Amino acid sequence: MRIRTLVAIGASAVTVTASIVVANLPAQAATTTTPSTMAQQLARQTLATGDGWAASGTGTTGGSAADDAHVFTVRNRAELVAALGGDNLTNGTNATSKIIYVAGGIEANVDDADTPLTCADYADPAYTTEAFLAAYDPAVWGRAAKPSGPVEDARVRSTKNQGARINIQVGSNTTIVGLRGSKITGMNLILNKVDNVIIRNLTMEDAFDCFPSWDPTDGSAGNWNSLYDTMSLTAATHVWVDHSSFSDGNHRDAQLPEHFGRIYQGHDGLLDITKASDLVTVSYCKFFDHDKTMLIGSTNTVGADVGKLRVTLHHNLYANVGQRAPRVRFGQVDLYNNSYQATTEDSFSYSWGVGVYSAIYAENNFILRSADIPVEDFAYNWGGTAITEIGTLVRVGTQPAQPVSLVEAFNAAKDPDLGTDAGWTPTLRAAPVTPTAAVQSLVSAQAGSGRLGL
Ligand code: CA
Ligand code: CA
Repeated sequence: MRIRTLVAIGASAVTVTASIVVANLPAQAATTTTPSTMAQQLARQTLATGDGWAASGTGTTGGSAADDAHVFTVRNRAELVAALGGDNLTNGTNATSKIIYVAGGIEANVDDADTPLTCADYADPAYTTEAFLAAYDPAVWGRAAKPSGPVEDARVRSTKNQGARINIQVGSNTTIVGLRGSKITGMNLILNKVDNVIIRNLTMEDAFDCFPSWDPTDGSAGNWNSLYDTMSLTAATHVWVDHSSFSDGNHRDAQLPEHFGRIYQGHDGLLDITKASDLVTVSYCKFFDHDKTMLIGSTNTVGADVGKLRVTLHHNLYANVGQRAPRVRFGQVDLYNNSYQATTEDSFSYSWGVGVYSAIYAENNFILRSADIPVEDFAYNWGGTAITEIGTLVRVGTQPAQPVSLVEAFNAAKDPDLGTDAGWTPTLRAAPVTPTAAVQSLVSAQAGSGRLGL
């Protein structure tokens, strides 16, 4: 039950719908469709001084300064595209300060009239999954080369059809706030060559690729790979992602079929930060039920990424994720006060990926692990040299948490070893680091969407 009220916001009187939930209804069942006073306050907030790498230099203010004409509430894909600037092909260059509230469920796989589109709607006439499997079965195609030829070309055309709907470009000076009960499904939000963006209280699920590619040369048995992340930062700077949730939703990997003996993977990252992106803070977010969670740096090539990819990750929850929590190349990454729940051994690969030229500073992180996931599996050397680790606590089941060095455990079990000094000490922290013993309960209570009074 909601009661309309008239409240004054700043200098102007604004009609809002205050969401007043009757006591016997669960609060999380409520969905608001107009921004509450709290939502409006959150949308006008800027990143706190010193709160991670995104506070560096000019800081991160997003669209907090938007004028009244550039405050939008969107309820579907078309409204979101309109609010971002009106033409998704050019929205990434729209630097007007703007605040966008996301209301209700927004589906990306829809036409302009919000009618659902299926994978079949995107498929090129020359593409079917069956034709693809027949053409590139290792028994036919072999394993020496990636697919090429007419069926692969048709797959690529199909992918472009889907990408034109689900890739949504966000421009500079934008704040996006999810309202209570809101959710974006099937979308890849793209922040490309933009500066100064804030994302808060957003729920994003299942950026599913209808047309995975097959790479028989990926790993020892080949892999199906997909294109889309729920959120992608490419050459993006000053980005703050806060109190948001990212997952595969109801479209979990365990439900996907296997082809050629490998899972027909329809997801890429949840929040990938690549191509010389820089000055990013990700705080109080929840990443769960997913495999390739957060890639920071996508290539070993020494080039544009050098000196970039500086990211702060604090008070995030990583629950039932397979790998890349995060995987880092090049960046100075401050990884503190994060909570890991690694209790699904079947899908677990590793958490901290120490890649080339990476400099991860990991402080006071908490690990809850299944007894079936060895402690030496949490860190992994992807060609890096060192990682600083301080104050990790590891708990198995309901046993008391123990101080454990994930890096020492890795070094004792595997080669080549990792050094223990990443060569820098973070200074951009808005508050004293949380004692590790308090991290699990604090992060469980506060990370993710739906925790800011919305
Ligand atoms: Ca990606
Ligand atoms: Ca060793």
